[in-house]
Parts: sequence; structure tokens; C-alpha cells
Amino acid sequence: MRLRGIRRSKNVELRGGRGGGGGGKGGLGLVGVLAVLAIGYFTGIDVSPLLNGGGQTQQGTQVTEADAQATQFSAQVLATTEDVWGNIFPDQLGRDYVPPKLVVFSNVTQSACGGASGASGPFYCPADEKAYLDTQFFNMLAQRMGAGGDFAAAYVIAHEVAHHVQNQLGILPQVDALRRQSSTSEANALTVRLELMADCLSGIWAKNVKGLMERGDLDEALNAARKIGDDYLQKQAGRAPQPHTFTHGTSAQRSSWFQRGFDSGQVGQCDTFAAERL
Ligand SMILES: [Zn+2]
Repeated sequence: MRLRGIRRSKNVELRGGRGGGGGGKGGLGLVGVLAVLAIGYFTGIDVSPLLNGGGQTQQGTQVTEADAQATQFSAQVLATTEDVWGNIFPDQLGRDYVPPKLVVFSNVTQSACGGASGASGPFYCPADEKAYLDTQFFNMLAQRMGAGGDFAAAYVIAHEVAHHVQNQLGILPQVDALRRQSSTSEANALTVRLELMADCLSGIWAKNVKGLMERGDLDEALNAARKIGDDYLQKQAGRAPQPHTFTHGTSAQRSSWFQRGFDSGQVGQCDTFAAERL
């Protein structure tokens, strides 16, 4: 993805960076430890690596540089989503778009939807209208996908922003209310439709940043929808309803809805709730 010359969004908040005058090596702090324990409690993941804090020094300097890069990248990608949705809302929906904040954090942080850690994976919290992205996520992407994974990372940001779009349109609260009155399987089915719609909306974003895409980027995005899709993202903390927490469409469904958004560019084409077949 060609981001040179793209502006940086001002809506990015960096938290928990390890620079900040050398005080950063003291571990997580009480709040951090409580958050980690809470995360472990809710998700059943092994939190001890987070608590031990061993062997971090060597990584510390790298992470700071990587944090800065991740933040710049995120701010540029977020700016593209602001431009795209800033046009589409008035054009297709007859209303103004209010962009979300994006919190880029290392270690742990709090959201209105509960605690978040590197194990959380990226998520969107409707309660504070912020998307959360841990810097570890970028490392994981790089390891899994090699240096060419930048568009995949951008796609994930676009997907979280798509949940914000759903929130702006009142879809998240509606579905959430429906989900509360549903059986588990019904609720899961609703979540799948929500996720596939977000993939379709991400496709609309991708169509509108075509000029920034390089050869192979579309495949990267589709691959991301499969590989680093919600299977990895569902380990997040907190109990408040979040789109990723439950279940997701199949790889084929995710790719095809993304493609649908990409081909049409129309929000109206992304109505997964009206679709008989997904
Ligand atoms: Zn999602």
C-alpha cells in the first residue's frame, strides 16, 4: 500500500508507549495487573507471560521504534477511512460522518468495553466509539504474512472502522438489542451478519483507496479476512458485547462480501440482514 504523502489522522491516541522518560520498565502497575488478571479470567487464556515481564529489556527499544511506525501507519490508514466515509455518508446516506478515535496501545489498556491486552486483538468498542489496536498485532502480522502484510493490516483497521460505521448507522445497537432477546445460536447468526456487513463495508473502503493499492494488495486483504480474521480476534477481554466476541462467517462468505463491497461501492449492497443467503 502506497501511503507516502498521505496525511495522518489526528484521531489516533497512543497509549502505554515505553518511551516517555525511562519510567517505563516498571512492569504493568496495579491497574495493569488487575486488567491482565481480568482478561485471563474472562478469556481463559494464560496470562502469566504478561505478568512475568521477563526478558523485556532487549525488546523494549525495538518496540518503541515499532510503536512509532505502527502509530504513523495507523494514523495514515485511519485518515483514508475518514476521507472515504466522509464522502460516502453525505453521498449515499444523506448524513455526516463522525469518525472514531483509534487507540494504539502496547501492553494493556482499558476501554469502555473492558480491559484490552495484546491478546485481545483489534476490536471496536461502541460504548466509547473507539477502535483498539495493540502494537503486538503489527508484529504478529509481520511474522505471519511477511513484509507484504501492510494492506492486510490496513484492512483490519478498515474493518474496525466499519463497525463504527455500523454504530453510526444505529445498526450495532439494534442488533445488540435483538441479540439480548435471542438464543445463543440466534445471537451468533446475527453476529455473523454483522461481521459480514463489516467486511462488505471494508470492501467499499478498499474500492475507494484503489489508487493506493499495489499489486497483490487485494489478495492480501482477502487473505487477511481468512487468516487473521476473527478467529484470532475473538480472544479479547471484557464482557460487554463486541462484534468479534462470538462467531463469524466462513472464509468464503467473508471474501465474497468483501468483494461485493469492493465491486459495488454501495452501502446498500452490504445489507447482510436482507440477504437470504450469506
Ligand atoms: Zn469484526
